[in-house]
Amino acid sequence: MRIDIITVLPGLLTSPFAHSILLRAQQKNLVDIHVHNLRDYANNKHKSVDDYPYGGGSGMVMQVAPFALCIEKLQAERNYDEVIFMSPDGVRLNQSLANHLALKGNIIILCGHYKGVDQRLRDLFVTREISIGDYVLSGGELPAAVLVDTVVRLIPGVLSDETSALSDSFQGELLDAPVYTRPAEWRGHKVPEVLLSGNQKAIDNWRYDQALKRTRERRPDLLDDE
Ligand code: SAH
Repeated sequence: MRIDIITVLPGLLTSPFAHSILLRAQQKNLVDIHVHNLRDYANNKHKSVDDYPYGGGSGMVMQVAPFALCIEKLQAERNYDEVIFMSPDGVRLNQSLANHLALKGNIIILCGHYKGVDQRLRDLFVTREISIGDYVLSGGELPAAVLVDTVVRLIPGVLSDETSALSDSFQGELLDAPVYTRPAEWRGHKVPEVLLSGNQKAIDNWRYDQALKRTRERRPDLLDDE
């Protein structure tokens, strides 16, 4: 998979992809992530990419032309399955959308800033708009990093223990069960006996019961259609 991210603040996207699972995914050539500086596509000497909103009002609006030039350059080089705009009014990101996107080949992600982007960019170039939740951030960079993280860890071969993503919360209809590690007793608090028993069937049953209990308590909505 190849992911191209277009942003006015490329520095914000350096660290999120330079560690841990996302770094290893790139080293294993399972994903190729490229960050493009929108200002390189500005056609004025100040490299500005935003302007005042037509009709007045507060906040600057990002112009369509620099984004269009960058997208068109990329699309001339290869085919893209999606051009995604990160936006609070987009479809809310969830695990099933992440699973769906993990099957794609090449995607472009656009990060907005200020008041947002010229609507013509959204109308003419964008195939999908995604929100990471009902709150507003200053820019699309952190949302893009969230999206890339959740998608890339689902690409086959990225996680070393293939089954670990499958038992994660939201992968099925249940939240994940509680987990414990050494020591077996800490300040008098013991790890549940069954986990030390070596009886895998009993452990699996316990995990299922705990996952179900946690889901009933915290997210009964996930069980609604049972
Ligand atoms: N005026 C816009 C918000 C602009 S915030 C509105 O009310 O809808 C600036 C940029 O940050 C957006 O263009 C978007 O790219 C990004 N952004 C902010 N919150 C986001 C969220 N919850 N999910 C995805 N992107 C978000």
